[in-house]
Amino acid sequence: MGTYFEWVADLDATEAEAPELGRRVVDALVARGVLLPELSSDAALGGVGHPPGPAWADTVARSVSGEAPWGMQVGVGREVYDGGQGAVAAVTCPGCFVRRSFFGPPEEFGPTCSDEDGLRWFYDAAATWRSDGVADLECRTCGAAAPVTRWTADAAALACLGFTFWGWDELLPEVTEWIAAATGGHRIVRGSGKV
Ligand SMILES: [Zn+2]
Repeated sequence: MGTYFEWVADLDATEAEAPELGRRVVDALVARGVLLPELSSDAALGGVGHPPGPAWADTVARSVSGEAPWGMQVGVGREVYDGGQGAVAAVTCPGCFVRRSFFGPPEEFGPTCSDEDGLRWFYDAAATWRSDGVADLECRTCGAAAPVTRWTADAAALACLGFTFWGWDELLPEVTEWIAAATGGHRIVRGSGKV
């Protein structure tokens, strides 16, 4: 057993604008009846969240359990959003767009580099960035180094604004569109996870 969640992250929000954009997204989802405006400690796993509103079922194709989800938690500040198991499958270089799988052929990382080494290479850089640091990742294909935030991770995002939908079934694409509209057209990505 575990707790399932859906996450949605804003790739363009700066740390400075994240609190205001977070409020706008909550307002938009409250206006749709998807969330309630109040905060509750029962709506998130750790911290507080907004409980589901009367129209929460509009956000999912079908409810697997039939039960109302817990709620949505707003995350402001640098955070790594992933599946909750620390196992990003691959990252793509922002320079040459070569995608490097951590669980694919070992030659992508060299014969002495295990999957765990590759994952640590990414997560160490992500942790440095999360602690207000700067971390570059060097591409073994084109040789260029770029900030970890510019690499594209499969099913993960490094973002200053994110939303975790706790105990929620898979979100419909419309929800991402609603959130993008509320942020003024930012790039919004989503994923699923379990803790
Ligand atoms: Zn490259």
